[in-house]
Amino acid sequence: MELWYSENHSEDVKFSIRVDKQLYTGKTDYQRIDVMTSKEFGTFLTLDGLMMVAEKDEFIYHEMITHVPMSVNPEIKNVLVIGGGDGGTVKQLVRYEGIENIDLVEIDRAVVEVSMRFFPGMRVGFEDKRVTVYYEDGLKFIRSKRNEYDLIIVDSTDPFGPGEGLFTREFYGNCSKALNENGIFVNQHESPYYDNYANSLVRAHSRIKGVFPIHKLYQAHIPTYPSGHWLFGFASNKFDPLEDLDADKWNKLGIKTEYYNTDLHKGSFALPNYVKELLENA
Ligand code: SAM
Repeated sequence: MELWYSENHSEDVKFSIRVDKQLYTGKTDYQRIDVMTSKEFGTFLTLDGLMMVAEKDEFIYHEMITHVPMSVNPEIKNVLVIGGGDGGTVKQLVRYEGIENIDLVEIDRAVVEVSMRFFPGMRVGFEDKRVTVYYEDGLKFIRSKRNEYDLIIVDSTDPFGPGEGLFTREFYGNCSKALNENGIFVNQHESPYYDNYANSLVRAHSRIKGVFPIHKLYQAHIPTYPSGHWLFGFASNKFDPLEDLDADKWNKLGIKTEYYNTDLHKGSFALPNYVKELLENA
């Protein structure tokens, strides 16, 4: 019998992948975790029935969430990642020799354990001695932090369940306090295409706007995410992601990427008109 993984991308749209084998299923205090293999996307991990990471296209999301801020300020030394238990974001960050410290705050220890087991290619970050993993709620962790980080990356699930607090005004305000004066904040910002995702995107954007004077969205094409059209948020008190992009400096680092490059960086901030209109209402 054929096995298919199906995920609702809207009330009337399902996205399906033919599954070769279910490798793992488990339930934690926070969510259900499944790992499957497929011919098209390789091994993939879902949380509560939503795609988190797939071997074949994870590079797009993880390169865009890390190299965009790192090329705007290549002097970044102290980084906080909230969520990101699959290891994809820290895998990209540890490629920068200049980064001295990375704190990763993941609410669910099982996501890290399962990812280490089934995605050996993503382990490298967890094995780097600059990385410390805290198993805590990011919403609580950030409350006591002041002027510490050069970069905060929010690599979270969607705004319901354990990830809900990571889309609140309180959380964004505390992120601003936890950043130093050169700080940059980047988050996964949902999809503009289907209403159910677009509504949370608009809400999150209006909250971030109220906290950071510089706030822009950029986009990438990620085949396994709803509609394939995904946005990220860039916010800062100081850096503009286009005016302050130091393309030569980043290119001289010699970091080999499969998706990101500094031309694409510039283009990724040029948004379609329907997305601009959505944001005007935020
Ligand atoms: N790339 C992904 C996406 O956009 O679908 C995100 C993947 S990553 C696995 C998301 C992680 O955020 C999950 O492992 C989840 O446990 C973690 N998470 C959710 N809420 C959290 C919270 N409040 N504090 C810390 N981590 C959280």
